[in-house]
Amino acid sequence: MRILYQFPTWLQRCYPNVLWRKDSTRKIVYLTFDDGPIEGVTTEILAILRRYDVKATFFCVGDNIRKHPDIFELILSEGHSVGNHTYHHLPGWQTPAKAYIDDVRSTDELMSNYGVSPRLFRPPYGRMSLSQKHQIAATHKIVLWDVLTHDYNPRYTPQKILDIVRRYTRNGSVINFHDSVKSEKNVISALPECIKWLMSEGYSFDKL
Ligand SMILES: [Zn+2]
Repeated sequence: MRILYQFPTWLQRCYPNVLWRKDSTRKIVYLTFDDGPIEGVTTEILAILRRYDVKATFFCVGDNIRKHPDIFELILSEGHSVGNHTYHHLPGWQTPAKAYIDDVRSTDELMSNYGVSPRLFRPPYGRMSLSQKHQIAATHKIVLWDVLTHDYNPRYTPQKILDIVRRYTRNGSVINFHDSVKSEKNVISALPECIKWLMSEGYSFDKL
């Protein structure tokens, strides 16, 4: 099976209501981290971002915010953006629309306790039904990615993650990493190297 690191531009254009990539005329990239907050992974990523003075976007799982409220507050206090990634990391295609929307709203409510009203949503596994998409798009910007690092793949090495970033990043790329236990080994080692390479190529960083 062919592994996809980047959907072709023509395919991205078929989904105009979804954000894949931002302004292609400017040398800016957007680092994103899904599935946290997780003790030891998110906290380490925050330390790396702090070291390089980089702002990023975290698509958080509600149940992980419940377990690690202090780390969620740290993400916010360090000036990063947050988005909704459902409460239970639900697979859209296997979940009835109402249950899915309720789960998304639960994370909105939880975040509102921290003074955040998330504008951004990323579906787990990058998939949801048309009905789910339609309902969520009424209140959130749906964000996918331009570069998928596959940092969660146990067969991949940090060097492979860096190679993917070097090969596929372009102006305006939204780059997908994970602050999850599965990704820990790859993301913690690869992230500083990716940031250093992006800086050496003249990219600056912004949050969504
Ligand atoms: Zn996820």
